[in-house]
Amino acid sequence: MSLVVGIDLGTTNSLIGAMDAGFPVLIADDQGERLTPSVVHFPGTGEPIVGRSASRMRSVEPAATVYSVKRFMGRRAGEQEGAVDYATAGEPGAPLRIRVPGRDLEPEEVSALILRKLKSDAERALGIAVERAVITVPAYFNDAQRQATKRAGELAGLTVERIINEPTAAALAYGLDKLGDRAKIAVFDLGGGTFDISILELNAGVFQVLATNGNTQLGGDDIDAALVAACTLPVPVWQKRDLAVQAKHRLSVEDSVEIPLPFAAGAESLVYSLTRAELEAVAVPIIQRARAHCLRALADAHLAPAELDQVILVGGQTRMPLVRKFVAELFGREPNTSQNPDEAVAIGATIQGGVLSGAVQNVVLLDVTPLSLGIETFGGLMNVIIPRNSTIPIKAGEMFTNAVSGQESMLINVLQGERELARDNWKLGEFQLPFERAPKGQARVGVQFEIDANGILHVLARDTKTGREQVVDVSSAIDVSDEAVEKMLGDSLEHAFEDVNDRIFVEAKLKADELLPMVRRALAQIGNELGFEERASIEARLSDVESAVEAGSAQPLKRANAALDEATQGLAALLIERALKASERPASA
Ligand code: AMP
Repeated sequence: MSLVVGIDLGTTNSLIGAMDAGFPVLIADDQGERLTPSVVHFPGTGEPIVGRSASRMRSVEPAATVYSVKRFMGRRAGEQEGAVDYATAGEPGAPLRIRVPGRDLEPEEVSALILRKLKSDAERALGIAVERAVITVPAYFNDAQRQATKRAGELAGLTVERIINEPTAAALAYGLDKLGDRAKIAVFDLGGGTFDISILELNAGVFQVLATNGNTQLGGDDIDAALVAACTLPVPVWQKRDLAVQAKHRLSVEDSVEIPLPFAAGAESLVYSLTRAELEAVAVPIIQRARAHCLRALADAHLAPAELDQVILVGGQTRMPLVRKFVAELFGREPNTSQNPDEAVAIGATIQGGVLSGAVQNVVLLDVTPLSLGIETFGGLMNVIIPRNSTIPIKAGEMFTNAVSGQESMLINVLQGERELARDNWKLGEFQLPFERAPKGQARVGVQFEIDANGILHVLARDTKTGREQVVDVSSAIDVSDEAVEKMLGDSLEHAFEDVNDRIFVEAKLKADELLPMVRRALAQIGNELGFEERASIEARLSDVESAVEAGSAQPLKRANAALDEATQGLAALLIERALKASERPASA
C-alpha cells in the first residue's frame, strides 16, 4: 500500500507527518520547522507565498495576507464574519469568498495552497510523491465544513482518504504505545479558535469515542481579543494584538512582563506591562465557558469524572497555568501533559494514515457524530434519524407517510441539531420526493441517512411502492456561523424544558386535530343513543380540548385529550358494536 500522510490543517498552524519504521514522524520544511503558519500572502505579481514568510507580511500588507481561513470553510456570505484584516465577499446566502487585491478565492482554494506547501515539503523530505492523506478537523465541524476540507485536499492534488476529528487524533497519539491497556480518557483540546472535549475508551487497540462536545468559537483568540480591548496604549490594533499574544505566552512561565516599545510614535517611550493575575482576571470567564461542554460530554458518556483514567491536554492554549488549574478542579485530577500540545493532533493523523496504508496494525478507530441528524415531520417537529454521539460509519432509516390525502410528493427537509422544533435546527438541504397519489397515511417513503467514516452525510429517499428513489448530496455550504454553533449548543441546554414543552404541545395538537372531527362525526351519527348526561359530558370535554388548543399550552391540552378519550369510551364501544353488526348483516342475510 502506498504512503498516506497525516495533516493537521490548523487555524493558526499546520503540520504534516508520515510513518517511518513504525513510528509517526512529523516532517520539517526546508528551514527545519515543523509548524507551518496557516497564512497565505498574495503579492501583486507572482505566486502566492505560504507559511512563515507569508506570516511576516500580515502587518505589512494586511489586505493581501490571509490567515485563519479555517474559520470560513463551508460558510456562506452575509453572516457576521468576525474581524479579519482582509476582505470577504459573496452575495448573502452564496458561499463566502476571500477577496485580496486582484483576486477572489474560495476558502478551500486558500487552504489548498497551504496543503500544497505541506505536500511539497513532505515530498522533498521523503523523496517520493505524496498523493494520499488523512486530514483532521475540529470534532464540532458540521457536514459542510468537512466537505470543504475534503475539497481543499483534492484541489491540492491529494486523495483525502479520511477526515478525522482532532481530539480523536490526539487520543491516538496518546494511546499508540499503550495498545494493551484498557482505559477511559478525556481529551481536552483548547486551541486558538476552537474548543473540543472528547471522551474515549481504549481497549486492546480499539479507540472508541464515547462522547464529544465543544464550541467552534472558544479559544486563545478570545483571550487575546479581551486583552486587546483592555489595552490603552496609543498603538494600532495589530500591534496591541502582537503585544497581547507575546505577553500571554510569557505569562505561562513568568509572573509579570514588561514589553518596551522603543519605536512607538511620540517622544515618550512606551511599555506594555501585564501581570499573571491581571491576565487571569481577563481569562477566567472565557475559560469557564468550557465547563458546560465538559459536563455534557461526561453525561453523554455516562461517566463521573472519577471514572476517567486520564485527562489529556492538547492545543496551545492549554499551556496556560490557569487552564491546567481549571481542568484539575473540574475533573478532580492533575491533567496529563505527556503530549506536545501543538503536535499531538498531527501525530494522530499520521497514525491513522498508517492504519489506512497498512503500516500500523491492531489499531481501530471508532468515532462518533457530534450532532443529531434528522428530518422535519408533521407539525414542524425534528425527527431524529441519527442521534448525536452515534458511532460512525452508521446507516439508519425510517418510514414516513403522507399527512394529506392525494399528496403527490413529500418535502424532505434535512436537519442537523439538538432542538425539538425543526425551525431551531440547521437546514442542511431539502428536496421533493414524488410518489404515487395515496389516501392519507398510505404512502410509504423510506428515508435513509448514512454517515461515512469522514463524518459526511449521504441521504437517500425511496417511495417503496414505485421503487423511485433519490440520493441527495447535502454538501453545499450552510448558513452556520460560529456564533450560531455556539448558540445552538447553548440553546439546546438552556431551552431543554421549553423544547420538550413545544414538542408535547405539537404532538397533543396533532392528536386533538384527529380526535375532534372524529368525535363530532360519531356524535352526529349515534349520539342520540347515548344518555343525556353522557352526551353533555362529551360536549363539555370537546370544548375543553378546543380551548386548550386555543390557549396553546402543552400540559392542559394533553390532559384535555386524555379526558376526552375517557369520556368517549362508551361512544367508542357503541361504534364498534355497530360496526360489528354491520359486518355480520350480509352473512346472516
Ligand atoms: P493551537 O490552535 O493549538 O495552535 O493553539 C494556539 C493558541 O494557543 C493560541 O491562542 C496561542 O496564543 C496559544 N498559546 C500557544 N502557546 C502558548 C503559551 N505558551 N501560553 C499560553 N498560550 C499559548
